[in-house]
Amino acid sequence: MTIIETYIQKHPRSQALFSHAQTLFPSGVTHDGRYVAPFPLYVECCAGTRKWGVDGHELIDYWMGHGALLLGHGHPAIVAAVQRQMECGTHYGAEHELSLRWAQLVKRLFPGIELLRFTASGTEATMMALRLARAFTGKPVVIRFAGHYHGWHDMLARDTDDAGAPAGLYDGVLGSTTVAPTDLNYVEHILRSRTDVAAVILEPTGASYGAVPLPPGFLRDLRQVTWKYGVLLICDEIVTGFRVAPGGAQQREGVPADLTTLAKILAGGLPGGAVGGRADILKHLAFGDVEWDHARKIRHFGTFNAAPLSAAAGVAMLDIVADGAPGAHAAALGEALVAGMNAELQKRHLYGWAAYGDGSIFHIVAGCSGGFPPGELDPTAPPDELKRGGDPRLVHLVRLGMINQGVDLMRGRSGFVSAVHTLDDIDATIAAFAATLDAVQDMGCIISTKHHDHRMVVSHE
Ligand code: PLP
Repeated sequence: MTIIETYIQKHPRSQALFSHAQTLFPSGVTHDGRYVAPFPLYVECCAGTRKWGVDGHELIDYWMGHGALLLGHGHPAIVAAVQRQMECGTHYGAEHELSLRWAQLVKRLFPGIELLRFTASGTEATMMALRLARAFTGKPVVIRFAGHYHGWHDMLARDTDDAGAPAGLYDGVLGSTTVAPTDLNYVEHILRSRTDVAAVILEPTGASYGAVPLPPGFLRDLRQVTWKYGVLLICDEIVTGFRVAPGGAQQREGVPADLTTLAKILAGGLPGGAVGGRADILKHLAFGDVEWDHARKIRHFGTFNAAPLSAAAGVAMLDIVADGAPGAHAAALGEALVAGMNAELQKRHLYGWAAYGDGSIFHIVAGCSGGFPPGELDPTAPPDELKRGGDPRLVHLVRLGMINQGVDLMRGRSGFVSAVHTLDDIDATIAAFAATLDAVQDMGCIISTKHHDHRMVVSHE
């Protein structure tokens, strides 16, 4: 049986739920990233590192709440904090003390954050960061980088200058951002030639949390360039914050941002985000006083800003991850996983394939056109290919093949290792990866192991 036939055979209930879902949601899904042919996996319960599908299969999970669950599913301290909070109320319609503790934890880990505002999601946080940058500088344009993801709101919905406007956006919105390659000369050229740039925003370890790594020293050099031209630097640490280091990529690289956006781990696995930074910038959210023009304040509401349940989960999470030990443990396991996967690729002489990553964040590229030696990622490989994980047909087979083997990778090409994964999980994942590669090869999809001749020619989706 092929990988896809096995997947269909193993998941009849998921298939049935998907049929129903198609009558309710466009394409049957509630998040584009979960869409997959012939149907996505339906899950009914998670605990620790495991998730259980509706068809009764147990899987090792590497989605980990899209990166939010550094302490795994249902960490006892977070569950207890949320349960306690449930009894006191889910929404006070009032300010509450827990939000102060939450904010203090954030400030302690991100010294560049002098003031902050909580939001209900990461998308809202980057939306507000851009608005703050424009209000502070009085300038309209924000430079962003090709492929970097900052949420789905209008101002940052387009991540390339090549294509036309994505459906639903119009030119006025598009003109407010300019999309650059991660090339400092290019950025400097824009900043030399235009005077209307308010800020530069980036994912500080590269597009899609490092799937397309930044050139060495890029973040540090970008900081210098933004200082030189007097534009703000916005670090989107929604994935990297509290993970690559307790204080995010900024702490690790020693690069302070003017504004920082946070979400995911911040809220302990519940919905929530934050934008924070220099007090003189955040002041644009403050109400008027004698020296400040009340009418020009940025309006900021949001029913679920600093929601008590999210605050409770966030405080419990940050209390535990603040010393860096959980992140370091997850990172060591992530590195072991990458090494083990690359050994399997090398055994099979799979050119253009590699596992790589940044500590607890890992990526797989399958059948990249650059054809680099097995397991030796060429960081200059085409960024588009790295972002989508190589050949989409191979990624698709790896995604379903790994599920067949009891491992749920994020979209078949990435994953987040948590602090509660174990070496046994890593070994089991490497074994599942080996079995999946064999299944892909059995389908005749990797037709040769030689350089430039490594990719399949059959179509699957
Ligand atoms: N920024 C980055 C770097 C992200 O990875 C994401 C989500 O994956 C967002 C922003 C948007 O966050 P949210 O999904 O909470 O709106």
